[in-house]
Amino acid sequence: MPVVDRQEWDVVVVGAGGAGLRAAVEARERGARTAVICKSLFGKAHTVMAEGGIAAAMGNVNAGDNWQVHFRDTMRGGKFLNQWRMAELHAQEAPQRVWELETWGALFDRTKDGRISQRNFGGHEYPRLAHVGDRTGLELIRTLQQKIVALQQEDFRETGDYESRLKVFQECTVTRVLKDGDQVSGVFGYERESGRFFVLEAPAVVIATGGIGKSFKVTSNSWEYTGDGHALALLAGAPLLNMEFVQFHPTGMVWPPSVKGILVTESVRGDGGVLRNSEGKRFMFDYIPDVFKEKYAESEEEGDRWYDDPDHNRRPPELLPRDEVARAINAEVKAGRGSPHGGVFLDVSTRMPAEVIKRRLPSMYHQFKELADVDITAEPMEVGPTCHYVMGGIAVDSDSAAARGVPGLFAAGEVAGGMHGSNRLGGNSLSDLLVFGRRAGWHAAEYASGAGAARPRVDDAQVDSAAAEALRPFSAESEEPDDGPPENPYTLHQELQQTMNDLVGIIRREHEMERALEKLAELRARARRAGVEGHRQFNPGWHLALDLRNMLLVSECVARAALERTESRGGHTREDHAAMDRAWRNVNLLCALADPADGLTDGDPVRGRIALTRETTEPIRPDLLALFEKEELVKYLAEEELYE
Ligand code: FAD
Repeated sequence: MPVVDRQEWDVVVVGAGGAGLRAAVEARERGARTAVICKSLFGKAHTVMAEGGIAAAMGNVNAGDNWQVHFRDTMRGGKFLNQWRMAELHAQEAPQRVWELETWGALFDRTKDGRISQRNFGGHEYPRLAHVGDRTGLELIRTLQQKIVALQQEDFRETGDYESRLKVFQECTVTRVLKDGDQVSGVFGYERESGRFFVLEAPAVVIATGGIGKSFKVTSNSWEYTGDGHALALLAGAPLLNMEFVQFHPTGMVWPPSVKGILVTESVRGDGGVLRNSEGKRFMFDYIPDVFKEKYAESEEEGDRWYDDPDHNRRPPELLPRDEVARAINAEVKAGRGSPHGGVFLDVSTRMPAEVIKRRLPSMYHQFKELADVDITAEPMEVGPTCHYVMGGIAVDSDSAAARGVPGLFAAGEVAGGMHGSNRLGGNSLSDLLVFGRRAGWHAAEYASGAGAARPRVDDAQVDSAAAEALRPFSAESEEPDDGPPENPYTLHQELQQTMNDLVGIIRREHEMERALEKLAELRARARRAGVEGHRQFNPGWHLALDLRNMLLVSECVARAALERTESRGGHTREDHAAMDRAWRNVNLLCALADPADGLTDGDPVRGRIALTRETTEPIRPDLLALFEKEELVKYLAEEELYE
């Protein structure tokens, strides 16, 4: 077996985006020796791409805002399927987390009287997103990175070693969570540059690996989003929650083809941008669903007045939650009223002076100028839906971020499920990362210190089998000679992306999802023969061959859960079950490995690997329900809940 380097830590954090870095800071500050691992360079995580801002009810721009209103908006956005305790903690703690970032060196845009400025976003009743132009994620990561370096300098002064208590392993990929019995004992991974294997032994592991978008063809997500953390948790025995809920952001670029899917931030609409079809009509007024009718403007005039006088007018329907806007755009294109390249028009040029557009939306201005040769100060953008975010994820305890069923495993950020229900509101991810990243780091450190002298032991057999699994693409031909020639991982990836896009995409149909599951079974079998040439030193084909396992597992979860949920809710739209069904309001779908022994092997490729179970959600606490009007609850809650 190949050489495997080993080190001991108290807490290992897999992922160095907003959630991972916040978890690492917390774990280290609570005394745990903490290692952070990331696939890309330190500071390059997907969080950097976040544009619009961090949602936090600070009430700086409208004093009417508070955590209760934020909680309400989040639950409405998620169509009441949110893990309500997470939504409560999130709304309560987000303002503190934003302030804390400023004390660590972040500098947000200001109001005229010097407070942190907040902008409008879809589904948020008040201007709520703290922002730095349209480059908020960059500031967030820069600040957390700076905080990590400050802690390392503190450690150097005490121990003479910068990395004695907090170390970042960059460009390293974790492929397995290791276990001692049912408990976590560490992680197995490889260095991307050298291909060397390593094990970090630790009683507590925080998974903070982000999303799954690279399983879909048109996506706003970066190359890192291959669902690794979701798969790591599944293989370790932790269930995934409500994986059918994938968010298709309404506004991605549609042209030119090479940039299809790249995000056009919601700030464009928050700052006054409007959507028009090929006939020049502001079509969103035709798509306000009944549950939102009282809260949105009836006419363009009212919607436009709202920007200056939000207390006496209702917001324009361009600011409905993302699922509603994405479906409306889809319907307009299908009805033949789309733009030349299959989207609709998003216009700021007629709404704001050019210098204001350049100041408030600098990245968008450059993005369109450089990638599409479109000057957004003079002409409209063409936009259409793009796979953006996964609401489903590792099932966690709301307070501690502990993953269900695997002691020592924690999860935070996009990889964790529950917080956003069936649909996430814009801006609620960055705040989620900070609130639950901190909680995961805190509880992981506490758990690790409780482990004391009885640290779990790493099982050598598991390390050997993880190494053998990782090396298999180099011997694909010789291992399965009867099954056919080796497969090219890039071809398999393209077929997977096309399948998910076409058959489990924004509008779903039963027979298409069944076809998707058949195709996934075929791809799983072929992926066992995914072969690569060359050696382990920086070999992107090999990396992709390993990522395929994760994307296939996660895609099966999405397709199975989407087939099972026979209603439309949030990010899950069924053409054959077009309405939201109150009977599904209190039903969670959990995905687990069908055969737990598959966690250690890679199972039978053809038989589906995922088993689904239904569970009833915990009843929403009465004082939180009291924040809503009864008439509104009647639209959402299941019959028996109303009765109670
Ligand atoms: P990430 O930031 O993606 O970090 C994941 C980390 O895990 C990375 O370091 C990666 O290298 C590492 N990793 C992954 N797999 C492995 C592995 N196997 N081994 C080791 N490391 C691994 N949300 C908002 O709230 N507001 C916004 O304005 C906003 N704008 C957005 C704009 C764009 C273009 C996009 C795509 C998303 C936006 N979002 C926004 C969503 C938000 O950015 C993400 O949901 C969030 O950043 C996820 O953070 P995270 O910490 O969970 O994961």
